[in-house]
Amino acid sequence: MSLTKSTVNDKAYAIDAYLGSISSKLRRDRDDRYQVEAVQWAVRRKREDQGRHECEVLSCGNEAAESEYIWNNCTKNPGHNKFIPAPRFCTDHLPEWARYPWMLDYVQLVSELTVRLRVSFTSLKRPKGYSFYNHRGSKLPRFGSGFVQDVSYVEDTCPCRECKNSPTPAKAWFCMYIETACHVEFDKKEAEATEINFFYDDESSLTDGRVETIFALDIVVKSQDKDFSVLLCATHDKNLGQKMFKYKLKLDSLLYLNKWRGGIVEDFASLFCLIVSHPHGRAKHITVGETERFIKDGTLIQVRYTTDTCRGSSGAPVSVINFCKGVKHISLFKGRGPHSETLCVKGKTLNMSTEFLSSDSTNVYKSLAQSKPMAASSVFMLLFRRAFLATSVFLNVYFVFFSGQIF
Ligand SMILES: [Zn+2]
Ligand SMILES: [Zn+2]
Repeated sequence: MSLTKSTVNDKAYAIDAYLGSISSKLRRDRDDRYQVEAVQWAVRRKREDQGRHECEVLSCGNEAAESEYIWNNCTKNPGHNKFIPAPRFCTDHLPEWARYPWMLDYVQLVSELTVRLRVSFTSLKRPKGYSFYNHRGSKLPRFGSGFVQDVSYVEDTCPCRECKNSPTPAKAWFCMYIETACHVEFDKKEAEATEINFFYDDESSLTDGRVETIFALDIVVKSQDKDFSVLLCATHDKNLGQKMFKYKLKLDSLLYLNKWRGGIVEDFASLFCLIVSHPHGRAKHITVGETERFIKDGTLIQVRYTTDTCRGSSGAPVSVINFCKGVKHISLFKGRGPHSETLCVKGKTLNMSTEFLSSDSTNVYKSLAQSKPMAASSVFMLLFRRAFLATSVFLNVYFVFFSGQIF
């Protein structure tokens, strides 16, 4: 076939169109790559903007895949060998002198009460020099951990996000106070942009419906110096509220009993420090280490520990337990505070909580509880809680003095 002018032109147009489509695809790919690189750069900048604190920052894409990538490429704790997935924690992971069944109960209860926080806004009111100051207004999500410090039942119109937009709001709700670090949750604007994930115990719990999510409403107390803040949350989900109430009640009873036991002995031989957190925004993990030192500065009590933490551990409950060696079952729960930051002292990595055993925070919960409207059912729950505690103490005294064992 001879080539006419028109067939040559057709071929030339076809080739041009083909090359054009390739170049526009290359352009698109290049633009996508630039966009991805720009987001990654912004994420890195935001992570660095928090100083020594340990929030995780992710882009707005596939968060599960991104946090897995970061977990696998972590430089602070490569391999995460000391991070034990919460469901697999057993007495073998505790120091030998601390291997008591009640200790495992304590760890499990703290684990159930630990939550993941996903904050998708950075307040414009963060002061100059404070963490994330240069990212005010940013919507890149950051992840931290928190602890359900108090649960109560209120018979009134539910103030949760869902009920606010509903013509038929629930008429009763559970009020929860969640303690975390101030650099994780700074003010009301950040609280309103916070998702709270309960029961994120393993990676499959995100997809099989075990994780339950509610939104925070406000911050009721905060201290920048002590690096703690308390979120107010509401849920009319009876199942979730009752579960958290039950865990908190059990934990209070267990601590009450162990405080009483610890009062017998003053000479403590060992301390250990345990943290339940969501490292890199992933499922719950538990780390165990030792308390390095307590630093008292006026009303401020800092505790430094060797227990491993990673980004995402900010705000996680740090528990310190005392044990008296050689005396059977004698122990004392020393205190708990939110994890704050990581530091390097003489070439050694140490982690730190800056609000520890603070009487302020205890008083905070008391005054909050008093200011709340108390429904008849709340009064019943309070009485039930007191009766439960009294019975536990009575049984404990009975077993110690009459049977030589401890309940
Ligand atoms: Zn890590
Ligand atoms: Zn509601």
